[in-house]
Amino acid sequence: MLGLVDYHMHSILSDGKQTYEEMIKKAIEIGLEEVGFSDHVCLKTVEWAVSPIDIPVMTEQILELREKFQDQITVRYGIEMDYFPGKEKEIQEIISQLPLDYVIGSVHFIGDWNFDTDKSLYGKWSNDELYHMYYELIQQAVKSGLFDTIGHLDIIKKFRVYPENDQSQLIEDTLKVIKQNGLVVELNTGGLDRPCAELTPSPEIVEQCYFHHIPMTISSDAHSTAQLARHYETALNLMKKIGFEEIVTFENRTRKMTHI
Ligand SMILES: [Zn+2]
Ligand SMILES: [Zn+2]
Repeated sequence: MLGLVDYHMHSILSDGKQTYEEMIKKAIEIGLEEVGFSDHVCLKTVEWAVSPIDIPVMTEQILELREKFQDQITVRYGIEMDYFPGKEKEIQEIISQLPLDYVIGSVHFIGDWNFDTDKSLYGKWSNDELYHMYYELIQQAVKSGLFDTIGHLDIIKKFRVYPENDQSQLIEDTLKVIKQNGLVVELNTGGLDRPCAELTPSPEIVEQCYFHHIPMTISSDAHSTAQLARHYETALNLMKKIGFEEIVTFENRTRKMTHI
């Protein structure tokens, strides 16, 4: 596992089960070279995100631990920020106040509906319509210029909700927007443990990312120490088989490539 990174991890400050320090110690134990925290920050009040009062605590703790463990592991400071159309200014205000290494932009809401925790509205639209609404939001998030990475790109499939008709053009258009705007796509291994039981994004989309020269990073979306770097072998084998030789790391919102 030497040389690898995990760029998507949650702590008790959002919906994770362990502290930053516990996560770091485990990451050192399993041989990760670099980790990035990405607790949820959300403009809406939800129980799974860091409460506004804890945001300075998050910063203080991560910066302190970065120094404490600097000889053993590189610790990066990221957040997983929810995108809401029309709220770009408010989102930017939060981001600009934090000394972040990277920002993951994620879409967990369609309108007010938190589709990845609340199953109640599935069926209200056709799945094709749902996919269009979701990827339209992803494209808006990408174009907003707020984010460095797009989180779990095809998470709309989480509960095994698949389009009625082939949506490869929609995905293709979305990837072009991602490329044009210079964003990174994370290969999130957490999807393998969700109902969809598949990497997010799917192997087909990873291949399309390679085709479009979209750089990728790798992450586990760990909500506990046990989930750190989960399914990395599967993810790395896939990336290498497709042709990827490098992944992206971030420092102070600047990108660097690292060999895999
Ligand atoms: Zn997420
Ligand atoms: Zn997450």
